[in-house]
This record gives sequence, structure tokens and C-alpha cells, in this order.
Amino acid sequence: PFDVLVVGGGPAGAAAAIYAARKGIRTGVLSERFGGQVLDTMGIENFISVQHTEGPKLAAQLENHVKEYEVDVMNLQKATALVPAGEDGLHEITLENGASLKAKTLILSTGARWRQMGVPGEDEYRNKGVAYCPHCDGPLFKGKRTAVIGGGNSGVEAAIDLAGIVAHVTLIEFDNQLRADAVLQAKLRSMPNVTIVTSALTTEVLGDGAKVTGLVYKDRETGELHTVELEGIFVQIGLVPNTEWIKGAVDLSPRGEIEVDARGATSVPGIFAAGDATTVPYKQIIIAMGEGSKAALSAFDYLIRQG
Ligand code: FAD
Repeated sequence: PFDVLVVGGGPAGAAAAIYAARKGIRTGVLSERFGGQVLDTMGIENFISVQHTEGPKLAAQLENHVKEYEVDVMNLQKATALVPAGEDGLHEITLENGASLKAKTLILSTGARWRQMGVPGEDEYRNKGVAYCPHCDGPLFKGKRTAVIGGGNSGVEAAIDLAGIVAHVTLIEFDNQLRADAVLQAKLRSMPNVTIVTSALTTEVLGDGAKVTGLVYKDRETGELHTVELEGIFVQIGLVPNTEWIKGAVDLSPRGEIEVDARGATSVPGIFAAGDATTVPYKQIIIAMGEGSKAALSAFDYLIRQG
């Protein structure tokens, strides 16, 4: 059995694997897609001490760094179930291919995925004007026109954030009112370069073949279609944690995030978690790496206290 089995090979999982392996304990990392969301990212400019890099390059560097150590890297493997330890003190992970793996401690770092609008043009113009992370990509749209899709807390926060950087923000909400906290709505309404559109369904992303040029929405009350000319669209309709497969095994928040304490411990002794899959706020590469490192140190601390 592994001393530490990391499930998920994004920034959190890679950091956890390196920290665990550096303790000289038997470490494995299992991932459906090593690199995680980083593989889908173009420019990265907020990974501190690296002014600019690209997602696929960072993902390759993560993998090379992990492979510097004696880590059993199992890529293209999907975990489908978790059975917490019984008498033998070993947690068990079942894989889609039917195999199973046992470990004294687990670090769950299966990340999250942005909910998509599912409209024509969204896939084609991803990273070419269609964006999901205002902390990451907001500055790329300095002085340009943008829209935010979604009027919940994350959408309204994104619109407030962007309004300080870009020329103009159009916030588009499906419901007939915004759902964000009142204090955020008041702040948004006080900003001069923001237009709020409610009862609106985004139906299409428009582009010129190379980049976004606008979007089309349908007024749900009149049925009329409207076009907004712009350069950027931030989709803020939910970040979904990849935790469906562990429901019932460890405690999850109402949003499906793995509940962790300040040491990365879950509700089950010996099972830790890190990164976008957890309740830790702000989903970022540098934060996921810090949390993964922390979870590995906690797993090591747990192991040395076992009989
Ligand atoms: P992920 O990166 O989501 O990795 C999860 C890992 O778990 C993957 O290896 C996945 O294959 C694996 N996995 C999932 N389910 C299973 C399963 N059942 N079995 C086995 N393996 C599984 N952050 C920044 O800091 N700066 C940026 O510029 C930036 N830009 C971004 C741009 C885009 C388009 C996106 C989508 C995100 C961006 N982010 C950015 C956010 C950043 O990528 C994430 O916060 C970070 O990758 C989270 O790391 P993680 O390890 O927690 O999860």
C-alpha cells in the first residue's frame, strides 16, 4: 500500500506529491489528466516569481518536477469510489478500469470545472475573449468592453472587479433580478461604467474567426434578440467541484466542496484534501499549490503518529 496516495494531478496534487515524496515515504499520484485545468489555460501572469508562462508549459514542468522524485505517477486513470479505512487502516480507491489502490493516507485534489453556457461560439472563442477567471484574465481586457454572464455573488464580484479595469461591463442575468448579496448589488449599481440586464438569456458568442466581437442575448420577456458589441465575456455561472465520486465518503459542503480545516484534514482521519475541490476560498494555481503542500505535510504528521 501507499503511505500517501494523491488523487488528482493538477497544481494541488503535484505539490502534494512532491512534498510527500521528499519525506521519503511511498507516494503515488493518480490523475485522469495530469496538469488539470492548467492544460486549458493560455497565458498565466499571476504565478508569483514567473512573469509570464503558458498552461501547457507549466503542466509539463509540474510533471517533470514530480518525476524528479520516486513517485508512482498513474496518468489517465479515473477514480470512481472511495472506501474509508476499516480495521486494516487502509483507505481504498476504486478505478474506472476496475482496479483498486490502497493507502494509509489520501490527499484528494480532483479540482473543479467551470459551468459553461453551452451556446454556439463559446468553445470556439475560449481563451480568445471567452474567459472564466477575472483574477486571471481581467487585466488582459484593460480599456476594453466586456460582459459578465451571471448575477450571483461571483458574477457581481467579477463585474465590480472588472469595472475598475475595463472600459465597460454589461452584466447579464437570466432571472428577473440579481441574486448577489445586497451590499454587492449596491456597489455595482454605484459604478458609472456598468449596465445591468436582467431576464436575459445569452444565446450566442459572436466573433471574427480570431477573437470575440460580441454576444447575442434574448430578452425573456419580449422574446427579442439583442446584440452587444464587446471584446470579452466572463462566464460566472458556477464552479463545480469534481467530487461527485466521493459523496457519502467524506463531508462535503452544500456546494459539493470537500470540507477541510486549516491543515487540510477532511472529516475522515487520514484523508486530506487540497485545491479547487475544497472549501478553501479563491481558486488559483498558487493557492492550490500551497494547499497541496500543506495537505502533504499534514498527512506526514498523521503517519508519524500512527502505531
Ligand atoms: P485541477 O487543476 O482542476 O486538477 C484536478 C486534477 O484532478 C486533474 O489532474 C484531473 O484530471 C484530476 N481528476 C478529476 N477528477 C478525477 C477523478 N475522478 N479521478 C482521477 N483524477 C481526477 N489560476 C491562476 O492562478 N492563474 C491563471 O491565470 C488561471 N487561469 C485559468 C484559466 C482557465 C481557462 C481555467 C479553467 C482556470 C484558470 N485558473 C488560473 C485556475 C487554476 O487553473 C486552478 O485554480 C487550479 O488548476 C486548481 O488546481 P487543482 O489541482 O486544485 O485542480
